[in-house]
Amino acid sequence: MSENNDKSNYKVLAKASIDTDKYDRQKRISGWDQSKISNTTVMVIGAGATGNELIKNLVLTGIGKLILIDYDTINLSNLNRCVLFDKKSAKKQEYKVDVVKRACKNLGDTEIIPLKEDLNDIDKNLYKKSNVICSCVDNIEARLQLNNYAYYYGVPFIDSGIDEFYGTVQAVYSEVKDSACMQCGVSGMDLDLMWKKYSCTGQEIESANGETIGKMATIITTTAIISGIQSQQVIKFLLGLDSFKREGKWNPYIGDPLIGKQLNYNGITNSFEIITKMKNEECWVCSYKK
Ligand SMILES: [Zn+2]
Repeated sequence: MSENNDKSNYKVLAKASIDTDKYDRQKRISGWDQSKISNTTVMVIGAGATGNELIKNLVLTGIGKLILIDYDTINLSNLNRCVLFDKKSAKKQEYKVDVVKRACKNLGDTEIIPLKEDLNDIDKNLYKKSNVICSCVDNIEARLQLNNYAYYYGVPFIDSGIDEFYGTVQAVYSEVKDSACMQCGVSGMDLDLMWKKYSCTGQEIESANGETIGKMATIITTTAIISGIQSQQVIKFLLGLDSFKREGKWNPYIGDPLIGKQLNYNGITNSFEIITKMKNEECWVCSYKK
């Protein structure tokens, strides 16, 4: 029997808390510390499909504060995969962050700070104020921008991506010196794609040569799987960061985050793979300090 399955490690909580403490069931997880979850600020960029699922998970888990950044409004075509939106909000084309904030009031006590701003315009101090930064965006340019700020400020960063029945999750953390960041693996093809800012809801976007770029094909099932894994990474960071800073080891009951690694999900073959990203010694983001 492994250490993690050893029943002697299971917490025995007071009987009275079973049905009166909202977080009773998760507090029973070995290595869990609800105060580390409650006293935390997480920044989420993108309140679309992945953002909805991620935010729902984080609010239910009891995260203290969420800073939500998205200037987009809701359209009817969002409603197949966004649990926090509704027909009324789509009809009125309300701002995503406002509707998320409203919907989350029924889910938990998380303080939600909605910001209808472009990533380029946000106060950079918000990065420093966050314990973890989550990217739920749909274009490479924004991902790299977030990667770069998170790395610079030494804040753990978790990115997710969805495409039909495929998805990826990866984490970046500057305190793990030999691990790759997202800029490390940027290829020429990625740079070519940077002008493609897929929008979940906005008008059809035209590229520089006038071609209309299609919308991403997405479905809630893939989104739920990937954002579930992304949420799990947030929890791993929050419950393991103190131990990592103190002893260089992550919380053994909660496990390591995917730092410098990319988890790929293939819904067609029902499979997952984890690849270790190659650190680029020439990377201007993560190798400049050497
Ligand atoms: Zn790098």
